[in-house]
Amino acid sequence: MRIIETIGALQEHLGQCRDQGKTIALVPTMGGLHAGHLQLVDKAKTSADIVVASIFVNPTQFAPNEDLDKYPHSPEADKKGLVDRGADVLFLPSVQQIYPENQTSDYEVGEIAALLCGKSRPIHFDGVAQVVSRFFDIVEPDVAVFGEKDYQQLQIIKQLVKRQNRNISIASIEIARESDGLAMSTRNKYLSTSERMLAPHFNQALRQAKSNYESGMALDDLINKARESLGRPFELDYFEVLDANTLTQITTSSADVIIVSAVKLGITRLIDNIVFRRSNV
Ligand code: AMP
Repeated sequence: MRIIETIGALQEHLGQCRDQGKTIALVPTMGGLHAGHLQLVDKAKTSADIVVASIFVNPTQFAPNEDLDKYPHSPEADKKGLVDRGADVLFLPSVQQIYPENQTSDYEVGEIAALLCGKSRPIHFDGVAQVVSRFFDIVEPDVAVFGEKDYQQLQIIKQLVKRQNRNISIASIEIARESDGLAMSTRNKYLSTSERMLAPHFNQALRQAKSNYESGMALDDLINKARESLGRPFELDYFEVLDANTLTQITTSSADVIIVSAVKLGITRLIDNIVFRRSNV
């Protein structure tokens, strides 16, 4: 695996790959890699000839009160994981490379960015769209792979690609989970031992809500039940049942449903979701 730190060197290498007729997949990450990230690499390998994984902790998607300074990093383990999984290039740019002075970007994110996580993290998706646009400009991938754990982010990126008229296909993978159901996340490292033992209850509440939905319980009731079951120490940010394709209220024509939630457990923000097909449509 080549480790490349500058845009110039990356573009020179990828230019040579393209001259040989090879296609390129991009897997953007912020490092602190876990098994879910490595599944993105697996997916990328089935989607293109050359896999470029990037590690860049993007400052523009963190608010001043968030965890930019202490975001977990594990560079040696990350490199080993990526080599073992067969990534071809690890792109490790500096903030200066990604955001040189006067860098501007057209990253209109639309209404969807103000919902769900966007309510409590108002600048977050602007920053995500900015950095993803920048990586798309630099790498010019044929395909880019994202996780469905960050479902709202995935929808925003799909819209961005359409709006910016980019010739990039967006692939995704399902949520990778620990054996007790907790969605894998770099931020799970923040959980104390006792919080880690409680954390699977979050996914259980989502699964219970799905089963209540399927047995015909009214949305308000099943959301209230989930709120009650996720009592302290969980601090609920949102718990919603929505049309999975629009992230708006379910209508008679909604084909897919998402149950999506964010909570805080101690200092750790957890997100999770379940997407399923509506049986009666
Ligand atoms: P991150 O480095 O955590 O910001 O995420 C980089 C990519 O990995 C994003 O596309 C995430 O959606 C994806 N990802 C993170 N955790 C998971 C997971 N548990 N399952 C699937 N994809 C994930």
